[in-house]
Amino acid sequence: MRIAIVGSGYVGLVAAACLAEIGHHVVCIDNDPQKIAALKAGHTVIHEEFLPELLERHRDEHLTFTTSLKEAVRSSSVIFIAVGTPPSESGEADLSVLESVCHEIAQEIDAEFKVVAVKSTVPVGTNAWVRRVMVRYGAPQASFEVASNPEFLREGCAVTDFLYPDRIVIGSDTDRCTAVLQTLYDPLTSGKYAKSKHAIPVPDAAPTPATLIVSSARSAELIKHASNAYLAMKISFINAVANICESAGADVQEVCLGMGADQRIGPKFLRPGIGYGGSCFPKDLTAFRAVARDCGYEFTLLDEVMRINEDQRRAFLRKVRSALWTLKGKRLAVLGLAFKGGTDDIRESPAIAVIQMLLHEKCEIVAYDPAAVDRARQEFPPAAKITFASTAYDAAKDADALLVLTDWEEFAALDLTRLKKQLKHPIVIDGRNLYSRREMMHQGFTYFSVGRQEAVPATLGVTRSSARAQAHAVAKLEANNTTEAA
Ligand code: NAD
Repeated sequence: MRIAIVGSGYVGLVAAACLAEIGHHVVCIDNDPQKIAALKAGHTVIHEEFLPELLERHRDEHLTFTTSLKEAVRSSSVIFIAVGTPPSESGEADLSVLESVCHEIAQEIDAEFKVVAVKSTVPVGTNAWVRRVMVRYGAPQASFEVASNPEFLREGCAVTDFLYPDRIVIGSDTDRCTAVLQTLYDPLTSGKYAKSKHAIPVPDAAPTPATLIVSSARSAELIKHASNAYLAMKISFINAVANICESAGADVQEVCLGMGADQRIGPKFLRPGIGYGGSCFPKDLTAFRAVARDCGYEFTLLDEVMRINEDQRRAFLRKVRSALWTLKGKRLAVLGLAFKGGTDDIRESPAIAVIQMLLHEKCEIVAYDPAAVDRARQEFPPAAKITFASTAYDAAKDADALLVLTDWEEFAALDLTRLKKQLKHPIVIDGRNLYSRREMMHQGFTYFSVGRQEAVPATLGVTRSSARAQAHAVAKLEANNTTEAA
């Protein structure tokens, strides 16, 4: 099939490469000429496993890039829209870019039938608006249909998520439109692609073939928002449990193991840490909250999910304080800038938020991230006391403590003996629970993590309970300060 994808960002580019991989002819459009020039020149532009291979395999043959929406739409039978839907000031999704793209597409629709599929995450009812607006801008009613085809890929494993998804949702209100998208995804839903000779390897436990879910457009729009809200809730839930574990002397990893073994709960997304971030969960939660309100339902549960998430960052700062006492002038090594491991995406990254709080406390930061340094650099003014190292060990050199803020596999595999030699003091404050407490204690680190007791080497002569008492005292002090400030 001939496919156009409008918006060549994290979703559009991955979708384009994967749709080319399953045999379609894809043209990828973006209004950022620099991005298109870089893609044409052979750059990958985002960090994503398997993406360089797919772009290399299909560039100039099954996959082309352009800034001209006009030509691309004319030559395609399916047009995906994958532009951003950022939050507006009130929290609702800002659909102005989507509308302007619909305007442009409408002007290029002629008598040949086309499907316009919305991949961007949008509020319920958007598809109906897309159709209405396109007719308003001149698209002949009978020559196009609009479908909702939400995307569920996760950055960091976006390519395998696209090719081996848990489910593909087609939200369409006509059989003709559904049939077009069913044909488009057939290599994934029939399992043909997974069996092909050069297929990207199927990840362990990935369901193949992919399940196809056909629904109304409105249901599909809600499936996406409700799924993201539910996942964010799972993260906030386990973070709340982690806080209880810290006070009660329990170990949240053991609690996760016990909870996750229940098939009704499952182990995924029971990962305590410094909270969720990224370009999706924060904005999708506020957007879904606004959608619910528009529908006459006050979804206050979502307010609490967001509040717990914000608190989790502050709780981490308290932990740093309880480990180091005063913060001003302390040199801190920070591992991780991206919002999660496997990506260079720093949008709404909790790591960046924590660093900004630490800079505000007048700490000096030396940060390292395997992929996100270039993007992160632009987040800080030139005078900010932050520098970037090219390895984790370089970042750790002479630091008062090491902070882990992103769950990169590389960090979990560090040589702890070497790391310890680099640090001024062997103190690790782990916001992602990447290490075993026992191992850290054995290696002689004072180790703070999330939802677990501090691990203090016996040689220091500090008991666990005294360390805990100190942490509580700091938290109390800070709570008092906050009240005074308010
Ligand atoms: P992004 O910002 O990375 O990409 C959007 C792209 O659209 C950019 O390259 C931008 O230059 C381009 N663009 C903007 N206006 C344009 C126009 N008028 N014409 C052509 N191109 C234009 O965003 P993203 O992360 O890819 O997300 C896109 C949508 O997909 C959002 O609605 C998001 O919520 C949703 N989504 C994202 C993810 C994810 O993990 N990033 C996952 C699922 C769904």
